[in-house]
Amino acid sequence: MGASVTQTQRTCVGCREVDAVKHLVRIVAVNTACQVDEKGNAAGRGAWIHPNSSCLNRAIRTHGFDRAFRKSGLDCEPVSRWLDNKSSGVDAPELTREKESG
Ligand SMILES: [Zn+2]
Repeated sequence: MGASVTQTQRTCVGCREVDAVKHLVRIVAVNTACQVDEKGNAAGRGAWIHPNSSCLNRAIRTHGFDRAFRKSGLDCEPVSRWLDNKSSGVDAPELTREKESG
C-alpha cells in the first residue's frame, strides 16, 4: 500500500525556501537570544534555518527571527558562534595556553 515516507518540511527563515528538516536547524528564542536547538525538541516556538552563514545573514537582515518569534531585537550571536564552530570542523579549544619554553 505504498508506505510513503512523509518528510517534514519547514521554511528557512533566511532564504525562505522550503526544505526537509534534516537540512535545517531549529532555532529557539531563549529570553532575548536565539539559540540553536540541536536536538530539535526544545519547548516553545521554533524557527528553522539552513546551517550556513548566508542564510543566517539574510535572516538577520530581513528580521526573519524577529518575525518568527514575534519579538524584536533578538541577539543572533549564539547562532553565528555555533555556526562558526560547526564550519571550522575541528574542536579548537581556545584554552590552549602558550607554554613558556625554558
Ligand atoms: Zn536557507
